[in-house]
Amino acid sequence: MQVHNFNAGPSILPNEVLYQASKGILDFEGSGMSILEVSHRGKEFTPVMEEARALVRELMQLDDDFEVLFLHGGASTQFMQVPFNLLNSGETAAYTDTGVWAAKAIKEARLFGEVDVVCSGKDDQYHHIPKNFSVPPQARYLHITTNNTIYGTQWASMPDPGIPLVADMSSDILSRQLDFNRFSLIYAGAQKNTGTAGVALVMVRKSFLGEARRSIPTILDYRVHIQNGSVFNTPPVFAIYIAMLTLRWLKAQGGAAALEKINERKAKLLYDEIDNNPLFHCPVAVEDRSRMNVCFVATRPELETPFLDFCKKENIVGIKGHRSSGGFRASLYNAMPEESVQVLVEAMREFARQHGE
Ligand code: PLP
Repeated sequence: MQVHNFNAGPSILPNEVLYQASKGILDFEGSGMSILEVSHRGKEFTPVMEEARALVRELMQLDDDFEVLFLHGGASTQFMQVPFNLLNSGETAAYTDTGVWAAKAIKEARLFGEVDVVCSGKDDQYHHIPKNFSVPPQARYLHITTNNTIYGTQWASMPDPGIPLVADMSSDILSRQLDFNRFSLIYAGAQKNTGTAGVALVMVRKSFLGEARRSIPTILDYRVHIQNGSVFNTPPVFAIYIAMLTLRWLKAQGGAAALEKINERKAKLLYDEIDNNPLFHCPVAVEDRSRMNVCFVATRPELETPFLDFCKKENIVGIKGHRSSGGFRASLYNAMPEESVQVLVEAMREFARQHGE
């Protein structure tokens, strides 16, 4: 049965990755052992880690100042680990409040130093990205969430704050071409665009790390992970293997530039339908619409549940909006085929016809 999986994360993976991973579970590269059974420092896994790190470097075209780490704890751990390592007590960090995830990052940073929330979209239910703000020049860094998974907004262009830029790219990493070297630290949970749950990618400039003036628990110190090549302790071996296979797949698709074109096409297909179909409406400011998470609502609220039921019959899953924002959300990450977006669009048209529109 073919299912069209629009889940926001964990989300769809390319078939090639699933096929390869299933072989790796049974017999990893002819070793007679499963990838789940090999040592994280052994000759089987070491090349996986090395290739994963090299692929990130290559696909993001990172300069030599960057270190690439694969760490436990998902993106939420980074909300805390970033300020733990980079924000000393008495120092200020600037944060943009563009949604629930950004607000969680702000909450954690406040445990470590001063936080200047330079802008917020909260009054507008986060339907737009605030762009008119100034950043205190002495702030240690500016933190942004490049794509706001729950509200379907995305920074179309990056701010230029004149201080180091830190980004949570959990829901749009490698989905478009960016000058990643403009950032000082980038992190992303892997489970949407670059793999599966259980690992976060962290790309950090060595020159940005500097001297933390507080004691950092060893496992949370970026410098320890850098010195140990991302295997300070047992890393999430299987999640890193899936990430490596997904990164290989991303490269085979043509990398960020090629994916950006495909992702643009998919998003346009769906937004055009929402804008033209009288039963649906997208509340997000047009210039800030995300190409990764398309959020929309039913213009006749009584049709919300029937539309979800209709989708279920068409094998379309995962389009219920986040519990905090309601409505619908279709996530169009890198692995989402254009054909599935077309199936959703057809379902929306058919549903409108059946309801007299
Ligand atoms: N940041 C963003 C933008 C997210 O979308 C999410 C999860 O969906 C997170 C952070 C939290 O990620 P994790 O579950 O890996 O901690």
